[in-house]
Amino acid sequence: MPVRPKERFLVFGSPRIEEAEVEEVAGSLRSGWLGTGPKVARFERDFAAYKQVNHAAAFNSCTAALHLSLVALGLEPGDEVITTPLTFCATVNAIIHAGGVPVLADVDPVTMNLDPEAVRQRITPRTKAILPVHFAGRPCDMDALLALADEYGLRIVEDCAHAIESTYKGRACGTFGDFGCFSFYVTKNVVTGEGGMVLARRKEDLDRIKVLGLHGMSADAWKRFGDEGYKHYQVVAAGFKYNMMDIQAAIGIHQLSRVERYYERRQQVWNAYDRAFAGMPLTTPAPQETDTRHALHLYSVLVDEARTGVSRDRFLQRMTAENIGVGVHYLGLPEQPYYQERFGWRPDDTPHATRIGRQTVSLPLSAKLTDTDIQDVVEAVHIALES
Ligand SMILES: *Cc1c(COP(=O)(O)O)cnc(C)c1O
Repeated sequence: MPVRPKERFLVFGSPRIEEAEVEEVAGSLRSGWLGTGPKVARFERDFAAYKQVNHAAAFNSCTAALHLSLVALGLEPGDEVITTPLTFCATVNAIIHAGGVPVLADVDPVTMNLDPEAVRQRITPRTKAILPVHFAGRPCDMDALLALADEYGLRIVEDCAHAIESTYKGRACGTFGDFGCFSFYVTKNVVTGEGGMVLARRKEDLDRIKVLGLHGMSADAWKRFGDEGYKHYQVVAAGFKYNMMDIQAAIGIHQLSRVERYYERRQQVWNAYDRAFAGMPLTTPAPQETDTRHALHLYSVLVDEARTGVSRDRFLQRMTAENIGVGVHYLGLPEQPYYQERFGWRPDDTPHATRIGRQTVSLPLSAKLTDTDIQDVVEAVHIALES
């Protein structure tokens, strides 16, 4: 057991970036084509190919992708969208900005994903859609959610921010719903700095949100300045400014080409953590469900003070003191003051998510981690649990 902390702070979620990305970004800068252009088009094609679908649309974040998808559902005031309390605030904010009313259903305490039975209990005549989040990269129970959507005539928008590599019964997450929204934020499994992508089951829906995502202009704006001659555009909706830049796609193209290699590295880190924490008073992630592929985005342990003698927040402080960056994914959304005031949400209404949110700690899980980093994390966990 070391007596001093790791020498340099291990930043949580720090991405692995290689020379090809640096060169490609420099190439974009040298070419002068910084905005939406051929590299975005290529990144969309590459992503669609990776997900084995025909079309994908890139945007400047997953938050934007979720917003556009929900706007495209055409929510009327008072329409309800059921989602999970164990998610990033962007999921629920997107529902609000699209004019919907977010409704929370509790998670399954083991998988930490939306519990389909809890969803069923929250369905009302105003329910329009379900917004499942494949939490940490673990696919939701899509058979049950699709059956509910079918039974009640609901749409589905999948939040796939954690789920780039996830599959459920052989089918890619993000292809079950009307829309699937992905994130390339710096901590995610594939990064562009800021960035997002949408898959849509129907090509018309994807075309529609491409228009909505670029001011509501009817033609591809980047073609306006091409060598085919000036083309007038028409404004057909009050759209948004959500387009991805070629500088971002320049990073994404090379990141995506290594998605499986990075996945394998995270699998090694994951297995090393599982082995190291097996005998310790922590709850480690549940095994993967059969016939699914977990994207291994977050490795979270539950720190139950009754078992460890150390509170979760004390554990977080101790890890940081050991120079290990940690995360909390997430405090249940009903803990947040805005939602309490606006919707009257109370932590007790979704008790599983609340308990998980109060106990969870995410440990570093990036393809950038070295074997020494892994050892440092494991040693820090031992130290953080000492009474
Ligand atoms: C990161 C994240 C988002 C938002 O993604 P951005 O690309 O940062 O906008 C949405 N939902 C979940 C579950 C996330 O983890």
